[in-house]
Amino acid sequence: MKAFVYNGLPARVIFGAGSIAQLPAELDRLGAKKALLLSTPEQGDSIREVSKSLGARVAGTYDKAAMHVPVEVAEDARRVARELGADCCVTVGGGSTTGLGKAIALTSTLPILAVPTTYAGSEMTPIYGLTEGGMKKTGRDVRVLPKTVIYDPRLTLTLPAALSASSGMNAIAHCVEALYAVDGNPIVSLMAEEGIRALGSSLKKIVPNPKDLEARADALYGAWLAGVVLGVAGMALHHKLCHVLGGFGLPHAETHSIVLPHALKYNREFVAESLKRISSALRSEDAVLGIWDLEKDLGLPMRLADIGMKEADLERAARIATEAPYPNPRKVEYGPVLELLRGAYDGRPPAP
Ligand code: NAD
Repeated sequence: MKAFVYNGLPARVIFGAGSIAQLPAELDRLGAKKALLLSTPEQGDSIREVSKSLGARVAGTYDKAAMHVPVEVAEDARRVARELGADCCVTVGGGSTTGLGKAIALTSTLPILAVPTTYAGSEMTPIYGLTEGGMKKTGRDVRVLPKTVIYDPRLTLTLPAALSASSGMNAIAHCVEALYAVDGNPIVSLMAEEGIRALGSSLKKIVPNPKDLEARADALYGAWLAGVVLGVAGMALHHKLCHVLGGFGLPHAETHSIVLPHALKYNREFVAESLKRISSALRSEDAVLGIWDLEKDLGLPMRLADIGMKEADLERAARIATEAPYPNPRKVEYGPVLELLRGAYDGRPPAP
């Protein structure tokens, strides 16, 4: 056992089918009397439905959350929160909606009560992001960490199969990189391995049957663990690459899914213990191929070329990713990283 530091983050988590019914009591617990409910336009009806159960506790609803939190949307939402005199934000949605709540919390004292409906995991992290002029900037600030999180698997039943699969792989990617994080520790590894196990088995049931409530609960449990480890452990090359590729306009969760087996292959010779844990969690002989096979089984896109990446941009992406790399088990070098990206672009199986 090596020496380690574990820096846990405070969180109150309410988990279970139907737990959204506890929202009024949880708002009372926070002392919130005028909540602003946030969502994307697609989930606007959900927050209007939820707001009915809250009666006078609702200050208003705002349904313009968008991927990567454009700064104009953040400023508009902050203005609405101020004008309505909101004293709390309730986010109902995926990482985009949680991210908008975080943008409000960053410049105010408003607590966030998060109700995640994807597997992105943002609700458990003090990480925020804002996009201005096509550039996404991220930072860490404990003010943006939600005070309460309600995980209700029933709210994920409507998440389409393809989105469930890619969002679940996004969560698995948090777990994979937490296993070899520079500041990893045994607690983080336990949670990461369990997260991969819970997601790996449940996603295979969800894709053919998105209404399988038991599998939804398992996946959300895995996503919670993945969010915890993302919040407390430093991410490596894989997350750096996905952040860079996001700047080229690629969709967040699918990018994670496609890059993951290639990024893990890049680190293969340096992360033996992590590979063992991933293999065990996925019940696969080989960790890298286990992830690849899982993605194929889930019917996910396997080539960056298919989700909007241009071949001409691969070199620029490799350059940006290697200029200021995150700590990574294997040295991050331009040539091998470009090769990794080419493999992901073509969808080459990451053979050992
Ligand atoms: P998302 O929040 O953009 O959601 C994708 C789409 O799915 C949206 O249209 C949304 O309305 C819809 N949706 C969500 N839940 C649904 C449900 N249950 N039923 C039907 N439709 C549903 O996507 P995401 O992948 O959850 O989040 C991606 C964003 O989150 C990115 O900007 C990423 O950078 C950020 N993120 C941040 C962190 C962090 O710690 N700060 C962690 C992970 C992701």
